[in-house]
Amino acid sequence: MRLDGRRNDEIREIKIKAGVLKRAVGSSYVEWGKNKVYAAVYGPREVFPRFLTKNEQALIRCRYNMAPFSVDERKRPGPDRRAVEIGKVMQGALEPAILAHLFPKTMIEVNVEVVQASAGTRCAGITAASVALADAGIPMRDLVPACAAGKAGDQIILDLGKEEDNLGQADVPVAIIPRTGEITLLQMDGSLSNSELEEVIRLAMTGCMTVYEKQKEALRKKYEVASHD
Ligand code: ADP
Repeated sequence: MRLDGRRNDEIREIKIKAGVLKRAVGSSYVEWGKNKVYAAVYGPREVFPRFLTKNEQALIRCRYNMAPFSVDERKRPGPDRRAVEIGKVMQGALEPAILAHLFPKTMIEVNVEVVQASAGTRCAGITAASVALADAGIPMRDLVPACAAGKAGDQIILDLGKEEDNLGQADVPVAIIPRTGEITLLQMDGSLSNSELEEVIRLAMTGCMTVYEKQKEALRKKYEVASHD
């Protein structure tokens, strides 16, 4: 049993809602354990700044932000190195799923706001962002679910909680395109043997499939409600 009573292969509780923000073209809200994350998508629209324009495809820009009140001690507002890095890895995770060639010379903007953080916010952000992209009607090969696995207390575990992340031996966030089995995000913090790493990636991918079901359910629900309106 883990600190919060979960089995080693058990994910924290996840709730996903699509279409939660009026001003964005597409949006979503994800509660994942104690994480609370919004995603908002704009575009395809005119590229700004102009010099970033791609002639053959849409430019995908991802911004990740943690609210000052999202962590125990107030976080200094504004972007830091970690936020810039997470924006980049989110873009790398999402772009292979987006049919960006359909919208050359435009920009698709993805904004992720973490309003409460408790380990695994990049996975929650990618998960929320791909639901928001689908909600915006952006054509995609598939949704992109993300989930971490790792090692704590010498055990291989799924979806590390805050204490497991702080005290643990390794944390490996993974994002996949379920339809093709492609891995679009793979990072590792800590140390693992080769065989442990393989086991961790396999376990993270099972977590991704659980998240994928929740993503599809959120989009189905939004569509059902819309068709009754
Ligand atoms: P992820 O949220 O994707 O797991 P990290 O491994 O960098 O990313 O962070 C792990 C956790 O540490 C975050 O989810 C958050 O709970 C906490 N954390 C990150 N940055 C800060 C910060 N500046 N102040 C306090 N806690 C933070």
